[in-house]
Amino acid sequence: MKNIAVLGSTGSIGTQTLDVVRAAPGRFRITALACRSRIDLLEKQIREFLPDMAAVFDEDAAADLAVRVRDLPVRILKGMDGLIEVCAGSRADIVVTAIVGMIGIRPTMAAIEAGRDIALANKETCVTAGHIIMPRAREMGVNILPVDSEHSAIFQALMGRHDSKIGKILLTASGGPFRNAAYEELKNVTVEQALAHPTWSMGAKITIDSATMVNKGLEVIEACRLFDVSPDQVQVVLQPQSIIHSAVQYEDGSVIAQLGPSDMRIPIQFALTWPDHLPSPAEPLDFTAIKSIEIGVPRNDVFKGLPLAYEAIRRGGSMPAVYNAANEWANAAFRHGRIGFLDICEVIEETMASATVTENPSIDEILAVQEEINRRSEVKYG
Ligand code: NDP
Ligand code: MG
Repeated sequence: MKNIAVLGSTGSIGTQTLDVVRAAPGRFRITALACRSRIDLLEKQIREFLPDMAAVFDEDAAADLAVRVRDLPVRILKGMDGLIEVCAGSRADIVVTAIVGMIGIRPTMAAIEAGRDIALANKETCVTAGHIIMPRAREMGVNILPVDSEHSAIFQALMGRHDSKIGKILLTASGGPFRNAAYEELKNVTVEQALAHPTWSMGAKITIDSATMVNKGLEVIEACRLFDVSPDQVQVVLQPQSIIHSAVQYEDGSVIAQLGPSDMRIPIQFALTWPDHLPSPAEPLDFTAIKSIEIGVPRNDVFKGLPLAYEAIRRGGSMPAVYNAANEWANAAFRHGRIGFLDICEVIEETMASATVTENPSIDEILAVQEEINRRSEVKYG
């Protein structure tokens, strides 16, 4: 029986993690759950999975939840301290980091310091603080198991072959809903149109990131961090049907890819059962039903989110944090109707152009970068 804590249990990855747990009675036990404020769903999850503790970031919602579940032997925690306690204080063997954004940095570090393995969905933490997290995890003997479908595919393509040299990683991208749109057409894209992803059903922030291709940019940086490769070794290829989830090309020219349906429960479960592939609730891929597997090249002239990410990771230091923090601000501003779709990458580009880069930034420095970018963006674009 594996003990699991889920940070962000009410979201897209969080609820699919609980589906995986539900589908395999006796295999997993939920020891802790956490969310920001959606306590109606969290209460249901607490009653179903009976964790030892649950944390709610919003303090008023935490107080409300504590009253609602006072009939149960569950500790209700609040704020950042609560998220940290869920990661470090619960008896979890593995923490699923299914929270969105850089808010996940401190809890993830706390989990690593406590020796918990990490099923890493929260890519923003890996992108901005990967240079701290990866070496520290190695020192602590902590496994970082990727949940992102592309990185799970790469991880699987590398299994057992750590001494063969990677030529390059072929990171696949669906291209999002505007894959074939002209630049001019993108000017008037609405939030609703950007939220209609062709192949994956995900949380709002990452769905917008997929439409701008910033998600793929974040994934290029995530791949460099997780697999210790240079940006030149990561090539993005379009695969509109999202059947090939990514591949590794070895130095002898052979390519090993991982294929499957567009169902996040497969990579989530694999992070929890690694190195075993066990029966899962997902429908297997029916090869006879596949009509085509197209491959294409990303349009970097239209979608600047991807080339800007290469620029950020090549520059290094705090620049990936600048790229990510500017995007977090701009993505939310777009969703709230404050800026247009094409402005998202404009904000990132301008923020990077005016940034002062710190080499090897600490976690405090990374979080200070975000605070400063939020403050300046409110003044400049708000
Ligand atoms: P959602 O928006 O669906 O869910 C986010 C979760 O995080 C919710 O449980 C939310 O709680 C919680 N949360 C947000 N802010 C806080 C906070 N300050 N304190 C505590 N909890 C918080 O996101 P996704 O599940 O789509 O994405 C999660 C992460 O996984 C992201 O980093 C994303 O990039 C990555 N990812 C997602 C994929 C997907 O298919 N969805 C695929 C690959 C990666 P509440 O509900 O209360 O707001
Ligand atoms: Mg992905």
